[in-house]
Parts: sequence; structure tokens; C-alpha cells
Amino acid sequence: MALTRDRCLCLRKVEYSETSQILTLFGREHGLLRLIAKGAHRRTKAGASKFDGGLDLLDLGDAVFSLRLEKDLATLTEWSLRDGHLELRSNLRALYLGQYAAELCSLLIEEHDPHPHLFDRLEQTIGELHTHRQEEVFLAFQLDLFREVGYLPNLAACANCGAAFTDQDPHWSFSAYRSGLVCRNCQSIAPDRIPLDAGLLSMVGAILRLPRQNGASPRLPRLTRHQTDPLNHVFAEHMQHTLARKLHLPRFVLER
Ligand SMILES: [Zn+2]
Repeated sequence: MALTRDRCLCLRKVEYSETSQILTLFGREHGLLRLIAKGAHRRTKAGASKFDGGLDLLDLGDAVFSLRLEKDLATLTEWSLRDGHLELRSNLRALYLGQYAAELCSLLIEEHDPHPHLFDRLEQTIGELHTHRQEEVFLAFQLDLFREVGYLPNLAACANCGAAFTDQDPHWSFSAYRSGLVCRNCQSIAPDRIPLDAGLLSMVGAILRLPRQNGASPRLPRLTRHQTDPLNHVFAEHMQHTLARKLHLPRFVLER
């Protein structure tokens, strides 16, 4: 049986039977992978276990697996942990943002459809979420993810009449149904609209225009949760409308 190797991040795990796990991994060269890790929790008499006691969400490691396209689940045969992100696990906000990034990726990336650039961005983002830059780092990743998979909403003009966005006018809203902004004149056609601060929208435009160098973090403005919360809120609405499903993590990420 041919074995494949890839650098992977763990996006989802379900404990299966007493000893196994069903995993969704994001492979740098393979896109989404669904695997079974048989015996992940089984220990030898010496106390060793096959996959270091099982994988955890957001773990980064090198996976070896058998890939048979006619089979639903690949089989994980080896896992060497590179980074368990311990610093992230002691910061609840960082952990929730990381898990939300994982949830979005698990829903937006297809199986066996590689996105190496996005993988690198996610790895970099998870590594920075425990720092004081967590708000801007998560927002920038979210925008990059939407852009890469083609789900970036229209933030440059009114989605109904096409009027260009300007922060001279404070009356802009976001409509998930329209997948973008609505101007003051078009508010009546978007009953689901959520008003958004024009200054925040300008800042999102500025982040989207930042040059992306490979391997380097973009130079982001410092943001507080007070600023990112309304944006994370409208993007969560946008995703829930686009995917026609309720997301799990926004309730932990957004202020009530
Ligand atoms: Zn309009």
C-alpha cells in the first residue's frame, strides 16, 4: 500500500470507539484529508502510544497516511508532532480564535484540493494568536481565507446599486443576503442589514490592499476586540448565509 507524507494541521477530531480518532487534517500539499487514526489512544505496556496519545485540535505535525481515492477515510499510520501550541492553550481568547479559524477552513476547503499558501497563513496565524496582536492577526487571516476560496464579500461598493464605498458617508450596512455592503439609498432592499462603522470598513479595505510577502506577516494596524467584534459578526453572518448552516464557534468568539 502506497504511503503519502504531508505537513498537516488538525482541524477537527472525533473520538471513535475507545481507542481511535476520526480526524480532519489540513495537509499543505493535499488540502483537506479525512482519516482514521486506529489505536490513537491505545498504550503499550511501556506506556508508549502510537500517535503520542492522540491528536488535538490545531496540532501541527508530519503525517504519514494511506490514500485511496475510492475510500472515504484514509488511514493515518504515523504522526510526529511538530508543535502542540501550548502557549495558545493557556489563552482562552486565542484558543477560540484558533478553533474558529479551523472551523472555517474545514468548511471552506475541499478534500484533496491543495492550498499551500493558505496552509502557511494558517500555520503562521495559529502561531501568533497568543500574542497581543491576536485580533488583527485573526481578522487578516479571515480576509485571506475568504479571498483564497472566492467568498470575499463585496466591501468596495454597494451590492445593490454599485455606488462606491466612501467613509465620507457614515451610513453603510452589511447584508449577508446580498453578500456585501448596502449604501444609505438601498437600505430598504436589505431587511437583514447590519449597520457598520465606515471607519472600520476603511480599515478592512486597507488590510486587503496590504502587500502579501511570502513567509512574512503583513504589517497590520493594532486592533481591539471592540473593533473586530462587529466585523467578525458580519463575516460570521456572511458565512452562515453562504454555507446555509450554523457555525459552532462564533458564539464563543463574539461578544453577546
Ligand atoms: Zn446602493
